[in-house]
Amino acid sequence: MLVRFWGTRGSIATPGPSTTRYGGNTSCVEVVTKSGVRFILDCGTGARPLGIRMMADGPQPITATILLTHTHWDHIQGFPFFTPLFVPGNHMTVCAPQGGGRSLLEVLAGQMEYTYFPVELGQLGAAIDYKDLAEGAFELGGVQVTTQYLNHPAATLGYRIMADGVTLLYLCDHEPYWENLWRSDAEPGKLESILHAGDRRHAVFMENADVVIHDAQYTPEEYPAKKNWGHSTYSFATQIAAAANVKRLFLTHHDPTHDDDFLSRIEERSREIAASLQSPMKVSCAFEGCEETFESDPYEVLRIRGTQFHTPSPERALRILVVDDDEDLRILARKALLRSGHKVMEASGGAEALELIARDKPDLVLLDLLMPPPDGLETLRIIRSREATRSLPVIVLTAQGDEASATASFEGGATDYLSKPFTPPQLDARVRSCFAAPRSGNGLEN
Ligand SMILES: [Zn+2]
Ligand SMILES: [Zn+2]
Repeated sequence: MLVRFWGTRGSIATPGPSTTRYGGNTSCVEVVTKSGVRFILDCGTGARPLGIRMMADGPQPITATILLTHTHWDHIQGFPFFTPLFVPGNHMTVCAPQGGGRSLLEVLAGQMEYTYFPVELGQLGAAIDYKDLAEGAFELGGVQVTTQYLNHPAATLGYRIMADGVTLLYLCDHEPYWENLWRSDAEPGKLESILHAGDRRHAVFMENADVVIHDAQYTPEEYPAKKNWGHSTYSFATQIAAAANVKRLFLTHHDPTHDDDFLSRIEERSREIAASLQSPMKVSCAFEGCEETFESDPYEVLRIRGTQFHTPSPERALRILVVDDDEDLRILARKALLRSGHKVMEASGGAEALELIARDKPDLVLLDLLMPPPDGLETLRIIRSREATRSLPVIVLTAQGDEASATASFEGGATDYLSKPFTPPQLDARVRSCFAAPRSGNGLEN
């Protein structure tokens, strides 16, 4: 499997003398299997030089599958400049997560309206198929691809591609679910020491992978000012990949303010982190033009053959119960959930919530912790003790941002834990992620 980077910058293209080594184009990675199946991971401005190269060198007509993590600008701006799309006879399949109430076709056509661009989407010469994806396992171009939602303020998918006996993951853009990766009472570096169930699930998705390409936009020093913007630090990406026994890690989605010297220091510090965790993982900051080939490990092939695939669950309207004694919070949550097409029920306390759950059987519960008795933890305990609601997804949504209350919630059976304040797209993403994957009620068992 060949991996080639065409754009490694996050947010906005940053050409200029200070970015010549790592590059200024936004997200775009080319992956080609031994049998010639070609994937294009994101279509940031790096897709322009990739398209030129494919037209000049590759086999014609061109067939490729474009996997978009999401449709933020820095992941689609190169799409209208990707020359193979203009050529009749070429065949492209474009995949992206379903979300936001508009189809992928509508979103991509939006950035090509005459106000923004001279050629409309419908005028492109190539045959283009559009696929709206959710979490699941798919066969694309004869290759097995698994998807999992990332934590980002938009519907965003991570991709796991398995071909030639090699497993590659593309995890961009993604923010940790919790500020501290490890429980303070556990030994860092192990999957079971990860504090938040969402972070553990993210680690399990990349477990034993040959190659992981991960968002690493910020430094740990920058992160507090950028919380909830949907990105990782190099320190988080390195630690979680090392714990997941990843063999090769590429850090990408470099911040526009980080020049070449700064990124070299990030690379150095990331390698020190991997070494301090006694991980043999090789870590690099991805750069434009970076190219590596990965060969299969015979034992890995046996493991992949045994993998079970499930069919993707279609996105549907959920019936969600919001439990909070604070009316303003209920209004905010209701607005966000209605906007995403869900149905909302409300309860202002634990007793009322338990009654509603027994009577109306919601699909999901958003549960506050600090309420008049029974408080959130007690309500959660009762939900889990009842046979009918043992696996009902419950997101704890609370002003408590401390480790003790997060740990107590997960131990009590919370599916996810989100601290206030939250933004509507963030809540939407967490609901989607929480409901997309079948899992047991108790996050610690996943
Ligand atoms: Zn981005
Ligand atoms: Zn983004």
